[in-house]
Amino acid sequence: MNRVGIIGGGQLAWMMADAAKKLSVELIIQTPSQTDPAVAIATQTILAPIDDADSTAHLAACCDVITFENEFVDLDALSHLEKQGVCFRPSLSALKPLLDKYDQRCYLRDRHLPVPKFFALEAGSSTRTAEFPIVLKTRRHGYDGQGTFILKTAEELAAILKTLNDQPLLVEEFVPFDRELAVMAARSLTGEIVVYPVVETQQENQVCHRVIAPADLPASITVEVETIARILLESLQVVGIFGIELFLTHEGKVLVNEIAPRTHNSGHYTIDACVTSQFEQQLRALCRLPLGSPALTCDGAVMVNLLGYESSESDYLDKRQQLAKIPGAFVHWYSKTESRLGRKLGHVTVLLEDSSNLRQRAIEIGHTIESIWYET
Ligand code: ADP
Repeated sequence: MNRVGIIGGGQLAWMMADAAKKLSVELIIQTPSQTDPAVAIATQTILAPIDDADSTAHLAACCDVITFENEFVDLDALSHLEKQGVCFRPSLSALKPLLDKYDQRCYLRDRHLPVPKFFALEAGSSTRTAEFPIVLKTRRHGYDGQGTFILKTAEELAAILKTLNDQPLLVEEFVPFDRELAVMAARSLTGEIVVYPVVETQQENQVCHRVIAPADLPASITVEVETIARILLESLQVVGIFGIELFLTHEGKVLVNEIAPRTHNSGHYTIDACVTSQFEQQLRALCRLPLGSPALTCDGAVMVNLLGYESSESDYLDKRQQLAKIPGAFVHWYSKTESRLGRKLGHVTVLLEDSSNLRQRAIEIGHTIESIWYET
């Protein structure tokens, strides 16, 4: 029996449960709150903030390998544990260049991987050279668009800077993309790499609403994205699964936007639509099992996030039942105790047969799901 420790107990850890059962893996979780989704499926829970390294030392004593559901950890503190022999997968050295968005951009640029133009904004430094629109990002701890600001004028920039209180910041060019893409890729301890289908992601207000798999792309773009994924996992010597988010411009140029060193929202469709889910793949890589096939088991799929649209303690049973009636639909509900605006409460994946007109049909099904979910 393998015992896997997970830092973080949100929905990404919760969705590991089925794969853990299948592979006879015990999940032990470090998470701050008893009401976090993964507490319900964990063999054992250490209730502590995810950046509390003393608690991670306890976690290490209960498991064979530790992985991350959330990368906002204290790497310096964890490195003491790694030196004492605690096994982190991915290793801390694979995480190190990624946790700060500026460092991540530099890492990619230095490996000749395509990224938007960017520069670090030091406190008090001049922004007069910036060409608007620009995208301002807090360098650490951004997620779901928190800490990302699309700014059209110097006045907007000045106003936002006042609220950010000297946090380290990254400025980058605004990319007027045609579409956003993403890809999941996993690497094993023996260096085997598998790459999932390239998907299209659709964001609104910087938050992912829909994912269409596979993206409707020329073969050359698919190959380019797969190559980026392989170069990155190889150069970081990753053991585990990573999500890579990209922009595709109108001219057919691919730029990497962001690397998630873990399972990712853009890979949720793999649970119902692929031979091996991203969660099983992660456990396979961690537990030295051969990687599974990333292939689709259907012609395509659309995944729609169920985002909170009000403050409520409802379990939305009626809506979930309506969604489950959509042909080919799988409803995943994270059983969070409270709904808040924008909070990820669940998702629906609908499998699609027949690849003709797939994108259009996926968009229509997305609208159907969203009209049921957001109808008040
Ligand atoms: P987070 O870490 O919060 O997910 P991201 O950097 O991925 O933040 O940005 C969230 C979304 O904001 C992206 O999916 C995209 O829609 C938009 N965005 C981010 N950077 C840029 C950019 N340079 N140009 C245009 N849009 C951007």
